[in-house]
Amino acid sequence: MSNNSIKGGGFIIHETFANDIFIPEEWNEEQQMISQVCEDFIEKEIIPVLDRIDAQEEGLMQSLLDKAGELGLLGITVPVEYGGMENDFKTSLLATEHLGKGHSFSVAYGAHTGIGTLPLMYYGNERQKTKYLAKLVSGEWKAAYCLTEPDAGSDANSGKTKANLSDDGKHYIISGQKMWITNGGFADLLTVFAKIDDDEVLSAFLVERSFEGISFNPEEHKMGIKGSSTRQIFFNQVKVPVENLLSERKNGFKIALNILNIGRVKLGAGVLGGSKQTFQHSIQYSIEREQFGRSISKYGAIQQKIADQFIKIFVLESAVYRTGQAIDDKIIQNQKDGMDKNISTLKGIENFAIECAIIKVAGSECLDFVVDEAVQIYGGMGYSSESPVERSYRDSRINRIFEGTNEINRLLIVDMLLKKGLKGELDLMSVAKSIQTELMSIPEFGESNDEFLIAEKKTLLQLKKIVWMITGSVVQKLMQTLSKEQEILLSISDCLINIYQAESALLRVEKLHDKQDMQNDIRFLLAQTYLYDSVDFIHKKAKDVILSFAEGDEASMLLMGLKRFAKYKNINPKENRKLIAKFALEKGKYIF
Ligand SMILES: Cc1cc2nc3c(=O)[nH]c(=O)nc-3n(C[C@H](O)[C@H](O)[C@H](O)COP(=O)(O)OP(=O)(O)OC[C@H]3O[C@@H](n4cnc5c(N)ncnc54)[C@H](O)[C@@H]3O)c2cc1C
Repeated sequence: MSNNSIKGGGFIIHETFANDIFIPEEWNEEQQMISQVCEDFIEKEIIPVLDRIDAQEEGLMQSLLDKAGELGLLGITVPVEYGGMENDFKTSLLATEHLGKGHSFSVAYGAHTGIGTLPLMYYGNERQKTKYLAKLVSGEWKAAYCLTEPDAGSDANSGKTKANLSDDGKHYIISGQKMWITNGGFADLLTVFAKIDDDEVLSAFLVERSFEGISFNPEEHKMGIKGSSTRQIFFNQVKVPVENLLSERKNGFKIALNILNIGRVKLGAGVLGGSKQTFQHSIQYSIEREQFGRSISKYGAIQQKIADQFIKIFVLESAVYRTGQAIDDKIIQNQKDGMDKNISTLKGIENFAIECAIIKVAGSECLDFVVDEAVQIYGGMGYSSESPVERSYRDSRINRIFEGTNEINRLLIVDMLLKKGLKGELDLMSVAKSIQTELMSIPEFGESNDEFLIAEKKTLLQLKKIVWMITGSVVQKLMQTLSKEQEILLSISDCLINIYQAESALLRVEKLHDKQDMQNDIRFLLAQTYLYDSVDFIHKKAKDVILSFAEGDEASMLLMGLKRFAKYKNINPKENRKLIAKFALEKGKYIF
């Protein structure tokens, strides 16, 4: 598959073609086998011991990571020479999805294989990789990532941890405190971010747990993911050999950000797995539970919840794997252009940092929605720790906080998009100008939208035009102060998140339509219902933006444009949801 023309963030101005995206219906046999291995592992090794994991039974999490290592699951993308499987990026997302059903285990796994291992894999030199990487892949050593400090959370570069070169020039002496460190209780290798001397930017160091001067607070008592180890770590004059500086001095913040990009899209894949799992519980319980003499699944109130869970999962899934493929395509293109493999990968992912942030926000909010409705479907039982969804509800909440809070990610989405516009990487100016001309012209009337997906594609384009219109206008008016107008930026971001998911789902349906008639397929109804909801959602967000900065004639013109663009044909949303729920109840689980 070649998709070289697609640029990160480009979805908002360019047309994406269905043939250029990957859809989950296209997994090959090998990838399906990896899914099965992950699924079996969670089913057999993790689910039966969830209570013991949450009780933080001594040594249990480590032994489970060891077992994952034996199956090769700790090195899905790691090069073969270090014991890994060297799979492509989207396959790693697939594995993450299936392993995302393991509650606290998934968090420990994600921290070890993601933020724990990847800084070394992408930025380590040969000597460092030879020394540590194979040990992390086998599970012999466990990894953690130490960025956050008590006073440096979202503002990660403001950390106070220091690294001073020793008099003999052989060591960096690290002193400081890190907080909220996942796997902190047992990790053998810590990637620690600290500032050298008076540097204003972080550097990164590979620190072994056994180095003298490291101490740990007891485990944090958390709302959820109780089985995941989370500690404060203190570094008191810790001597770290100079050869353990990762990459170059002052490259730490860049490393942290690039690794977070990967963490974000992987978080989205993981919560997709969790959402599917909770969806299945919701369906099954609703079928079994009877009230007023009937299964509660027969009630419209419950069917609506199941349909909404299904819709959110479907559009998220479509967006996750579209992004995975776009990243893989970019990596291949970078390599063809002569870039080194690691740099190709990092640049490929960085290119799609906007989409990674979108997936993080959309995914974490999808899971929160799905678990919340699951508790409601379970009624009183949902509030009992005897039901599986009580744990899911508590465990879900963290996902909106770590890997960059959803507020920070939302702000980043627009910030990165505007920067791409300013740098000329995306021609946002032209599309914004084209809208101004269109607003002066007479609207088109009465064209036929009968052909399959034509009306949906037209609506999608119009939703994009709303973003061009409001973004172009606010940039023009508030340029200097726009970065401080967070409420406006958050609303624009919400529009982008919805559009990306709506488009991904529609493109998926369009691609499938090449092989089979999709007019009566449930996937069309899922995509269509999401689009229908998005029109009103985006209308409200855009209206809020317009009324926040424009007045008089300008506001009237923009509101008229909004009315013209925020349109979709009438569908019967109740009937759509009934059909969607019926399908889910018949299948008993998410089947695509
Ligand atoms: C269970 C758990 C595990 C974690 N694991 C790790 C780990 O392994 N390694 C690691 O380094 N860190 C880890 N973290 C830390 C995590 O990444 C941070 O908690 C997160 O980045 C938020 O930082 P904070 O908690 O300091 O919140 P703050 O930054 O204090 O944010 C508080 C609130 O203010 C908002 N806010 C902050 N700045 C702005 C702004 N400029 N504009 C608008 N709103 C803003 C935030 O969105 C949030 O709503 C973990 C945290 C938890 C709870």
